[in-house]
Amino acid sequence: MAVEVSFVFPTHPRAESLRIRERLVDGFRAGLVTPEGLAAHGRGEAFDYILGERTTDEARRAAEAAAAMLLLAERPVISINGNVAALVPSEMVELARAVDAKLEVNLFHVSAEREKAIAEHLLKNGADEVLGVDEEFSTHIPEVQSHRRKVDKRGIAVADVVLVPLEDGDRTEALKRLGKRVIAIDLNPMSRTARAADVTIVDNIVRAAPLMVELARRMSDLPREELEKVVEGFDNSANLRATIGLMLRRLEELSGGRSR
Ligand code: ATP
Ligand code: MG
Repeated sequence: MAVEVSFVFPTHPRAESLRIRERLVDGFRAGLVTPEGLAAHGRGEAFDYILGERTTDEARRAAEAAAAMLLLAERPVISINGNVAALVPSEMVELARAVDAKLEVNLFHVSAEREKAIAEHLLKNGADEVLGVDEEFSTHIPEVQSHRRKVDKRGIAVADVVLVPLEDGDRTEALKRLGKRVIAIDLNPMSRTARAADVTIVDNIVRAAPLMVELARRMSDLPREELEKVVEGFDNSANLRATIGLMLRRLEELSGGRSR
């Protein structure tokens, strides 16, 4: 992907957020991201604004549970869409390596051309193998009523744990119905994805992805029993409720109301 010249003034109060937008727009021009992907990012940004654009303790705990779940998995897969490829390609490659997971391109707005562009982008960022682009290994799983979702026979089709960063609710629920354990990264703690997943990291993927790499590397030496304790000790609904509580308190503070 060509690196475009940044027009973001470094002292701008929203400089980091604007730089992330530029990365997505570069991804859009390079054929990785769809216009819908740009709009979806906007929904995420609004929640990030309320969170204070930081990784909360709740998100860190969820990321620990996610790293443990991925390390314990027999056939973990990381699902990659356009936004993920544009924002954190090398981090996803590093995470796959750290937990021995496969990378699979899996798109909501299916397009062979975009699948190929995303796979090539991941390979350029250090991936050895990218699933989801070879028709020979393509199969379908049931999604919503008339919808069928294309997946790779060597990847999501046979995975026990799937990381779905920035995923749609129908698709997340479909993976759950197939008995898979699902990890989501989603800034909206109220989305169907956030509620359906076993572990939801409510954080911007640009912060969550490097954090997960660091945690996975650090936790890879832990005995299985320790990892199992981390997974079993995590309660996703309670974590989501706590995050919504944090958001409420932030809004109270911002409105000049009482702060707790
Ligand atoms: P759902 O289908 O799960 O109910 P939705 O329909 O509101 O959610 P989608 O467009 O299907 O939203 O999925 C995109 C999700 O990705 C949104 O919930 C948004 O908050 C989240 N998102 C977008 N950009 C980021 C980002 N950079 N980091 C983390 N989450 C993000
Ligand atoms: Mg949706």
